Amino acid sequence: MSIQCIIKHKKGVKGIYNILKQNTDIPSGQTKWNRIFNLDEKQWSNIYKHIFNTTKNSDLLWFQFRINHSILPTGEILHKIGLSQTNVCTFCKTDIESLQHVFWECQKTKNLLQDFINEMQGVEITLNFDKVSFIFGEYSGSKNSKVVTLLALLLKRYIYTSLNLKSELTLQGFKAVFKQFLCVERLIALKNNRLQNFNNMWQDFAMKLSLEY
Ligand SMILES: [Zn+2]
Repeated sequence: MSIQCIIKHKKGVKGIYNILKQNTDIPSGQTKWNRIFNLDEKQWSNIYKHIFNTTKNSDLLWFQFRINHSILPTGEILHKIGLSQTNVCTFCKTDIESLQHVFWECQKTKNLLQDFINEMQGVEITLNFDKVSFIFGEYSGSKNSKVVTLLALLLKRYIYTSLNLKSELTLQGFKAVFKQFLCVERLIALKNNRLQNFNNMWQDFAMKLSLEY
């Protein structure tokens, strides 16, 4: 499957997922990521499965899917296929705009994560992201893995949206996105009579964000 074909394919996690599943070869994205992380088969299997236990939101699933398969376009990819004049990071204008740079190594990303962690001090869950858990999700099955994975996913999506809009990463900007996410999740929980589940996961964060109940 060519990269152009996937970039054009805006949505459709299932379709592409099924194609990749039928194919017993190691996905090329996995080979690319393994040049950096060298994760074993079991870890990859957990990464692919874990996201489906984390959210049912198809936009978030599709977003993480493209990260896992290294097909989310960044300056590095767009420059290679002639769609961008530069491969330099939009945020720091220093390094190559690769996925691992944008989602972890960039100083602007590091600043945002640190600001967010500081702001959330006092919540019960310890937010100690590392490079693997931030990029692929916290898939170890720990008690808080779902919350940590979802938070990383929301942060990455905010980072990626800001990248495309060429806007600065700010704590205020992310807090607005996070607050909106929690409002929607809470409404869904109310509708499905699962408010307790919502509170168990998010109450601390909702209070930090002064989410109105
Ligand atoms: Zn950068």
